[in-house]
Amino acid sequence: MGIEEAKKEIAKCAKCGKCRSVCPVFLETGDETRVARGRISLAEAIFQGEIYYSPELRDYIYSCKKCLRCQAICPSGVDFSTIMDALLEGIEQNMGIPPLARLILRHVLPRRGLFDFVLNLVSFGQNFLPGERRGSLRHLPLFFMGRRWVPPLARQTVLNKHRHTKKLANPRMRVGFFVGCLTNYVYPNMADSLINVLNKLDIEVVVPSKQVCCGIPAKSLGDTTAAKKLAQKNREVFEAEDLDAIVSGCGTCTLTIKRDYLKMLGDSWRPMHDKIYDINVFLEKFTQYETAPIDSTVTYHDPCHLRWGQGIIKEPRNVIKRCATLKEMETPERCCGGGGVFSLIYRDLSMMIGDHKIKAVEKSGAEKVVTSCPGCMLQLSDLAAGKNLPVETLHVVELLDRTLKKNGKEGVVAGQTVEVST
Ligand code: SF4
Ligand code: SF4
Repeated sequence: MGIEEAKKEIAKCAKCGKCRSVCPVFLETGDETRVARGRISLAEAIFQGEIYYSPELRDYIYSCKKCLRCQAICPSGVDFSTIMDALLEGIEQNMGIPPLARLILRHVLPRRGLFDFVLNLVSFGQNFLPGERRGSLRHLPLFFMGRRWVPPLARQTVLNKHRHTKKLANPRMRVGFFVGCLTNYVYPNMADSLINVLNKLDIEVVVPSKQVCCGIPAKSLGDTTAAKKLAQKNREVFEAEDLDAIVSGCGTCTLTIKRDYLKMLGDSWRPMHDKIYDINVFLEKFTQYETAPIDSTVTYHDPCHLRWGQGIIKEPRNVIKRCATLKEMETPERCCGGGGVFSLIYRDLSMMIGDHKIKAVEKSGAEKVVTSCPGCMLQLSDLAAGKNLPVETLHVVELLDRTLKKNGKEGVVAGQTVEVST
């Protein structure tokens, strides 16, 4: 089914080249084989048997960020992600993936306890590695994160800390929290804030402790067997709870468990699919709250998988405007260069893309850069540390948690929006 679906999408491409004007990878490299149009031509050739899978082809395909920017602008409506999925599966089936990656994807990620153990072990080993940058950035396994400087691993994971649901007397709703790996291991404060905010709004939050990785790393390497195993495991875990909704604070996780699980698990996932919300959308749709805005300027970065993948643009801004003064940066929609497997393999390219972003953050003059995806938070804090830029990186719900009135109902004072001059 993958190749046949992909061929239908390939046939739609008019070769107009509009994707070249926005692709973050093409804008840095100027290389036609690293933009949607070029990759579609490669896909056509490989599916017709005119070329073969090779290390060069794999490089052209792996260097796509899967940011969906091209898909969002494409006048012919090409579903580029379907083509990419077929190419990645073809690479995995014809060339394989590194044995260590296969081992982690198929045998470590589905076992939460084993994943905890492995990360803690490697993190402990890193205590003996030299070097520290701006105090807080080191620790997470270097084998896992390349040369990346990152915040330390959480002393207690979110799934352990919140394994027992905080019961509310008369909750309005009962929601499940899909945590995601980065939040679980690196950004527990974000999870605390999300739970705190919802609890203040009389919404009970269940954090199923047996949930596993959403599967995006497996999917990014074309290992659909591993991705399906993770999807199935999460389905069992969340279907076992009686939930009104499922929320996530990670744009990539939300996109994966909504869009990709529907493809992988079929229509039987539809009832759960319809209950899944990005936290900003959930707040806008189901809650009313009051804030005491802080005297601070904030700029917002659009995560690609929220903006291009799900069309979520105004909801996070609406939250921010009630918490502080929003000062839009130039091109907030421009990719930050982060993103799982891509930023590990193409570290230099990731930093080149990110350089535009951090310059825009700096030019905005804002004291805080807020986003709604832990992957972007990781990249933004890394970029800021590299430039010695004293800007705080936060998730939208962390900002809201700081400003939400007790019980969410004690007088509204709205923030204001300021457009940065360009
Ligand atoms: S914008 Fe769409 S139709 Fe045009 S070249 Fe890119 S993928 Fe093809
Ligand atoms: S998904 Fe992003 S990186 Fe990949 S071709 Fe499209 S715009 Fe470029």
